[in-house]
Amino acid sequence: MTILHNSSLKNYNTFGIDVKAKTFISVETIEDLKTVLQKNYAEDLFILGGGSNMLLTRDIDSTVLHIGLKGKQIIKETEADVLIEINAGENWHEIVLWTLENNWGGFENLSLIPGNIGTAPIQNIGAYGTEIKDNLVAVKAINIQTLEIREFSNEECSFGYRDSIFKNKEKGKYIILSVTFKLKKKEHLVKTNYGTIAQALEEMGIKDPSIKDVSDAVIKIRKEKLPDPQILGNSGSFFKNPVVDKDHLEKLKNIYPEIPSYEVGKGEYKIPAGWLIEKAGLKGYREGDAGVHKNQALVLVNYGAATGAEILELAQKVQREVFRKFKVELQPEVNIF
Ligand SMILES: Cc1cc2nc3c(=O)[nH]c(=O)nc-3n(C[C@H](O)[C@H](O)[C@H](O)COP(=O)(O)OP(=O)(O)OC[C@H]3O[C@@H](n4cnc5c(N)ncnc54)[C@H](O)[C@@H]3O)c2cc1C
Repeated sequence: MTILHNSSLKNYNTFGIDVKAKTFISVETIEDLKTVLQKNYAEDLFILGGGSNMLLTRDIDSTVLHIGLKGKQIIKETEADVLIEINAGENWHEIVLWTLENNWGGFENLSLIPGNIGTAPIQNIGAYGTEIKDNLVAVKAINIQTLEIREFSNEECSFGYRDSIFKNKEKGKYIILSVTFKLKKKEHLVKTNYGTIAQALEEMGIKDPSIKDVSDAVIKIRKEKLPDPQILGNSGSFFKNPVVDKDHLEKLKNIYPEIPSYEVGKGEYKIPAGWLIEKAGLKGYREGDAGVHKNQALVLVNYGAATGAEILELAQKVQREVFRKFKVELQPEVNIF
């Protein structure tokens, strides 16, 4: 267990925001985690994974608890499937690469998403037509108050678009300890019809792609499209893609016939938030060191010394401008503290 006081979080959040934690504790075992919870349960704990889905706007005047639980194991194997349990502190993409080395299918479209395993179910991470819920069997979590360990089945997690029970009914009540997944050992369901995967595979000269090829294509696309947080601070998509009803979409189509949309439920349509931000004239917009990325309008970036408050101000400006132009409210995907 590592304990630090008055410690900078700059290297613990992908926005690279320089705020301080009153106390910073990193735990590597469940026993240590329980000890911390027993001592600090009354305090307002701040749980930290890979720091890739948060905007820190102030110093944290309590204990930041970094979940560093490492380890992975095969629970069960049949000819067709494998059941694996991965501890919360493992890095998501490293686990994706491990599953690919073993030719286990299911995670390939989710390659190169930053962050840790324990955080992935919270917003049901998704990309290129796949969500973590598609292969998730169960989530093991500890109740912060009672220390009771509970297993949530896939159904009990109430997954939705960038959503789960851990963002709603059980928000702030649990720390995720491990996640169990079921992956396919053969007859892989190769998904290439989303985004530009098919095009990337063609450019790579691949006709009959394996899951590893799909992963390589996704990595190639993401590297070309998204800024690398190591070079330019960011938290990926800052906003969720908004959903509007048919009436609203028709009104928008009368003014902007080219508006992209796709149906997500009965009479409900998702509009790419990046398109709205770009159309509002904010792609590449910059105020000091806070900016809207020049190629990806959905990504807000820290050019170096932006504070969390400055990024938040920019995010609010984006929300205001998009609402003024389209009467559409953008909701942040990133957790703001
Ligand atoms: C360049 C870039 C690209 C991205 N692309 C995608 C994408 O394609 N799809 C996608 O879905 N997301 C994407 N993201 C967002 C991000 O990678 C995911 O949301 C990821 O799951 C966050 O993991 P983390 O460990 O970094 O979470 P953190 O930022 O550390 O934490 C996020 C939230 O979870 C809580 N938390 C952390 N660990 C635990 C735990 N063990 N138990 C309970 N609560 C916990 C924290 O308190 C916080 O509220 C991207 C981010 C970046 C920077």
